[in-house]
Amino acid sequence: MSTTAYPEHEKQHAIVAESQAQGEFLDWLTNERGVHLMIRFEGTEPVECGCQDVNDGKPLPWCRKCEGSGRREEQLKRWVPLGTSILSLLAEYHKIDLDKLEAEQRDMLDVLRKVAAR
Ligand SMILES: [Zn+2]
Repeated sequence: MSTTAYPEHEKQHAIVAESQAQGEFLDWLTNERGVHLMIRFEGTEPVECGCQDVNDGKPLPWCRKCEGSGRREEQLKRWVPLGTSILSLLAEYHKIDLDKLEAEQRDMLDVLRKVAAR
């Protein structure tokens, strides 16, 4: 249990050097080595059936794959870009809530403004 008013900042402060090194490594992997983080996607996606190709562009009414609709769900297994920023990954790894961190930052600025207005 934290005693500070800014627990997310306290957590961030404790891991800043480690996190900086990890961020630099990930940045090097991406920009110097051209490595991209991918994640396995498994699901279905609507695709054109293909029965149109043998029926002048119209779906075959008796097609078993699409039941005459011309569209069917295809099972997909492929790699897709992770699409998560390095900052978000590091925050997740170090269990830092970026929304709470931002809220704490706003709170700090409010306190500073109140002090300055005295
Ligand atoms: Zn079909």
